[in-house]
Amino acid sequence: MNDAVISIDRAPMAPPGGDPIVTRLIASELALQANAINLIAAVNYISPRVSMAMHPILESVHSEGYPGRRYHEGQAVADQIERLAIDRACELFGVEYANVQPYRGTMANLAAAAAVLQPGDVVLGLQTAAGGHYTTGSTLHLIGRMFRVVPYGVCANKSTLDYELIAAAARRERPRAIFCGDTSYPRLWDFAALRAIADEVGAVLVADISQSAGLIAGGAIPSPAAYADIMTAATYKTLRGPRAGLILARAHLGPAIDRAVSPICQGGTNVRILAGVAAALGEALTEPFRAYTRQVVENCRHLADELSLRGFDLMTDGTENHACLLDLRKLDVTGDVAARWLASAGILANGNQVANDAQSPRRPSGLRFGTCAVTTLGMGPAEITEIAELIELVLRGRGEPAVTDAVRERAGEIRRRFGTFEHPWYDADVEELV
Ligand SMILES: *Cc1c(COP(=O)(O)O)cnc(C)c1O
Repeated sequence: MNDAVISIDRAPMAPPGGDPIVTRLIASELALQANAINLIAAVNYISPRVSMAMHPILESVHSEGYPGRRYHEGQAVADQIERLAIDRACELFGVEYANVQPYRGTMANLAAAAAVLQPGDVVLGLQTAAGGHYTTGSTLHLIGRMFRVVPYGVCANKSTLDYELIAAAARRERPRAIFCGDTSYPRLWDFAALRAIADEVGAVLVADISQSAGLIAGGAIPSPAAYADIMTAATYKTLRGPRAGLILARAHLGPAIDRAVSPICQGGTNVRILAGVAAALGEALTEPFRAYTRQVVENCRHLADELSLRGFDLMTDGTENHACLLDLRKLDVTGDVAARWLASAGILANGNQVANDAQSPRRPSGLRFGTCAVTTLGMGPAEITEIAELIELVLRGRGEPAVTDAVRERAGEIRRRFGTFEHPWYDADVEELV
């Protein structure tokens, strides 16, 4: 138990010999992280095991191509690291093929699109305001410039997906690919319904599971593996690895996806990061990780319940995954401002659009909360209840400094009960990971 705010000088890192300015910045970041409760749905903490796997020596391997077919010598170890990551990814997600090279989730989506589409082809994707990612739900990304992205949304009078609407859009637009998956849709997807729609119009079904990959891997929510032709994922959200991406697919799509990832979209592999991905995938295959993913969902449901009890509106009235979305429309504040209030009170979240939002993404009508980081630290329902109470104080206090200052002390105290970066599950699973 540690009551004092962790200051930069007390940060337990800063090894001698580092760049003094960068070292100090790292120590500052550590102090930020050690005193704040992070409810950003895309944030998690990697384990010491994953962190140790990303050894600096691996930065001196130059790897282009794929295991067994590289363009430079000296790849014996790099090949084994990549094969290990591929084998673990296939086992974890129950698929025949994996590409572990995408630099991040966005690149995984770009490569998946490049593998199955020709320029100008039509793609259906979930609208950003309804919770879609901008790569496939808007025209902001290169995907929206090279291909014709047609966003589908939710009904005007409800906030859950309407598969009849998606089917109607598919019949009208005849897309070559249908992207599903979300960045902020708190409910489960009906992948079987989407498979039927894709089959009816002859489209490839791509599930972007960037947010939920860990929950799917851990069995906490259903997998699209039996329905989707391709799954794309970020490795660092619920999957709790380093910041990279993955593509999982049926075997016959492998050659096209390999070509699309490199050389079409990317250059060489980040072998050091890949070693961390391999380690994270290994962790994800253990029972403690599976238990972790169930707790993430349970904690999020509890957070949603606690916020509802306190009179707040939740989009879709709750959640079935790791994130929930507070609808601020009755509170007369936008999500960006509310997120700043919370940040000044030591609680990190993000402003987020809600379904059919009349406001822009920069001044959205919602706030998104996720539980994957706090669950990694070991927080459970008791802490979640306390956090919900703090969120209520800040929002009802409308960012009043006297309120946020008092809440920041309590938030820091809750956060520091869980140490800086010791992971309670870390020791427990050592035996299983031989
Ligand atoms: C986070 C996310 C991505 C990938 O983002 P990167 O920043 O490129 O890692 C892609 N799709 C969805 C749905 C996401 O939530």
